[in-house]
Amino acid sequence: MEIANVEGRGSLIIDGRVVDIESATAGRISSDPMELVDLRNHSLLAEVQPDAGSSELIESSLGPPVPRPGKVIAIAINYRSHAEESNKAIPTEPHVMAKFPTCITGPQDDVFMHDLKMVDYEAELVLAIGRAGVRISRASAWEHIAGLMVGNDVSDRNEQFRPPIKQFSMAKSYDRFGPTGPVLVTSDDLPSRDDLEISLKVDGELRQQARTSDFIFPVPVLVEWLSRYVTLEVGDLIFTGTTGGVGDSMDPPTYLRDGQVVEASIEKIGTIRNRFVAGSLP
Ligand code: ZN
Repeated sequence: MEIANVEGRGSLIIDGRVVDIESATAGRISSDPMELVDLRNHSLLAEVQPDAGSSELIESSLGPPVPRPGKVIAIAINYRSHAEESNKAIPTEPHVMAKFPTCITGPQDDVFMHDLKMVDYEAELVLAIGRAGVRISRASAWEHIAGLMVGNDVSDRNEQFRPPIKQFSMAKSYDRFGPTGPVLVTSDDLPSRDDLEISLKVDGELRQQARTSDFIFPVPVLVEWLSRYVTLEVGDLIFTGTTGGVGDSMDPPTYLRDGQVVEASIEKIGTIRNRFVAGSLP
């Protein structure tokens, strides 16, 4: 299934058309997109058929599929290529930072850079938790995941690496620094869910390309490790780390400029396309 937020309403995309879920389920599921990430609702969602009320999909109407996550966890290093370009040793356990939930924005939204000079992109596979749990075993990890999205872990490198105490969370949490989407694809739609091509382009120029099978910590390992002492709740998001090719590691370092368009893609899930704009939200 492809779960979407269409103008703030929980929807399914079926055969390229938008089916409004509150209407298609006669109100058994409300219009809140957060209800569609809950795996307890997925058997009912699976019965939904395209009806006379379905409408054409207009990409600009898509919001973040999971608009109000309780927490957003981000993994610092999960590809060897990104560890190498960052001059970091290959980690033996995940390193984690937070993105504040208010950074989450839609797949087509502009990202405002204010007067910042070191804004950078990171294409990432994003997991949405659909069943709560703690001490989840790697064998049952996928049973807790509602679906997968594309994300851009936008980062202000100046704040991220500001000495003497380097704290990543604020630098990755500004409003709109978490574009996600375009839809939430359930993992049963992805036979190769552990091996998906991920890529990112800036104004059409390829900057990042990898496969999620290159993960240092595959999805089940991440979920097991993250839930050792922390309860994962329905609607939590996990940004699984980025691959080599970030602007900060280019020679010379190259950051996003006013008007550039960043496209992050994952095969079988889709593309998020965000324009980066100097200045602030009008
Ligand atoms: Zn990241």
